[in-house]
Amino acid sequence: MRSAAIIGTGIAGMLTAHGLLKKGFRVTVYSDRTGEQWLTQSKPTGTAARFDRSLRFDRELGLNHWDRPETAMQGVSLAFCLKPRNPLVTLTGRIQAPCRAIDVRLLSARWMQDFVERGGRLVIEPVDLARLDQIASEHDLTIVAAGRAQLAQLFPRNEERSVYSGPQRKLCLLVTRGGRMGFDRVPFLPVRFNLFATAGEAFWVPFWHKDHGPTWNLLFEAKPGGPMDQFDGCKSGEEALAVAKKVIRELCPWDADWAEPMTLADPHGWLIGAVPPGVRAPVGRLPSGRVVTGVGDTLMSLDPIGGQGANNGTRMARNLVEAAAARGDAPFDAAWMESTFEQYWREEGSHIVRFNNILLEPLSAAGRSMLLSQYGSDGLSDTPAQRIADQVAENFNDPHLITDGFVDDAAARKVIAGAGGRWPWSFMRGGLGVARGQARQAVGLQPRHPAHV
Ligand SMILES: Cc1cc2nc3c(=O)[nH]c(=O)nc-3n(C[C@H](O)[C@H](O)[C@H](O)COP(=O)(O)OP(=O)(O)OC[C@H]3O[C@@H](n4cnc5c(N)ncnc54)[C@H](O)[C@@H]3O)c2cc1C
Repeated sequence: MRSAAIIGTGIAGMLTAHGLLKKGFRVTVYSDRTGEQWLTQSKPTGTAARFDRSLRFDRELGLNHWDRPETAMQGVSLAFCLKPRNPLVTLTGRIQAPCRAIDVRLLSARWMQDFVERGGRLVIEPVDLARLDQIASEHDLTIVAAGRAQLAQLFPRNEERSVYSGPQRKLCLLVTRGGRMGFDRVPFLPVRFNLFATAGEAFWVPFWHKDHGPTWNLLFEAKPGGPMDQFDGCKSGEEALAVAKKVIRELCPWDADWAEPMTLADPHGWLIGAVPPGVRAPVGRLPSGRVVTGVGDTLMSLDPIGGQGANNGTRMARNLVEAAAARGDAPFDAAWMESTFEQYWREEGSHIVRFNNILLEPLSAAGRSMLLSQYGSDGLSDTPAQRIADQVAENFNDPHLITDGFVDDAAARKVIAGAGGRWPWSFMRGGLGVARGQARQAVGLQPRHPAHV
């Protein structure tokens, strides 16, 4: 029986551990915290909303303990604004199968328990470089799934694939109770996006909290120096939540009444920070010369703007497990680690990174074409506009679908035509609706956007 060691009990580590266990490996997981510590002393590492193509792996492994209607988010409700307090274009798009954001603290604790019950070995200890070398000497395959923690530095950064030299947004995440689970006029439970050309992005994500069940994750992606950039210096979750409510009143007052009753869901349910996006090489060389590989955020870290990091980690874990199982008795050497990651990068990773990076950039002319052509989507109808909106939403599940349409004029027109729209009429029709909304706001009225305010 071949043996594998995994360092880290986040989503990527635990899915890899369960996957290898199921393939007949003898698996040991090393964790710097117990399941109880995940539940009572840890911050969530992120919202980690995952889409159907990722959740499929949980189902294959029998780890989908939270598949129930209350955890199902069914699409997006989006407002794009050139300036604060002024929704210019709205989009209401459905996804084909639910997306779920399960509290990663709950998920890790439960999957650790499942792992032990299924015959895995769990060791609670923080692993440093010397210990990693020792662990690697005792196992056929050693995998670092330590997130963006110190151990990730073992894997050299791939400068060519790491487009940005530093974080692109300043982040604040809050897990809150007391918000109604839905929005007026939106016919399903959505992720609510408020996108601002200059301020940044603010998302509200339905979240299944470890203690309280249905709650909301408020995620602020502030552009440095812009009007959303107000969270520096917050020393507690309560302080950050007070700032969040102020930011909502100032930038997107249409969600202010909804947010007002919110309280922090638990003392650890908040984060302030930034993610430097980047891609690393998949081979880490230890002082002894032994090699280890990585999975999840350890090898690829993404700004949360596209909700892709945990999705990426899940699919990378699946790729790694399949490749390890197909390896037979051959060694898990550097060449195998390279080719396993390259296959992932080619088939999935590069598409995810490209889509996510596009979202960090200003909206292109092609993106504008799609956005205006879908104007009128309300999440209910079967019109060309609705079909475009649905495809935009579905692209978060599968960035292979229409990512080109966000940056390439011809590809955008193909998306519009494929949905039954006609260029340039669909675009002009959308433009008229937007102009009507602007005229109403100019005289102090609500814009009356479809399925929005
Ligand atoms: C604000 C925010 C919002 C996000 N929203 C989304 C979203 O909606 N959708 C999405 O797909 N992604 C999202 N992400 C990204 C997602 O949360 C991460 O990609 C994912 O959780 C990373 O999982 P991981 O298993 O790779 O690492 P982690 O979750 O960081 O787990 C690493 C593990 O390693 C352990 N560890 C670290 N060092 C050691 C050591 N030396 N010894 C032993 N154990 C160690 C840690 O305790 C932990 O168990 C978001 C991220 C942020 C910051």
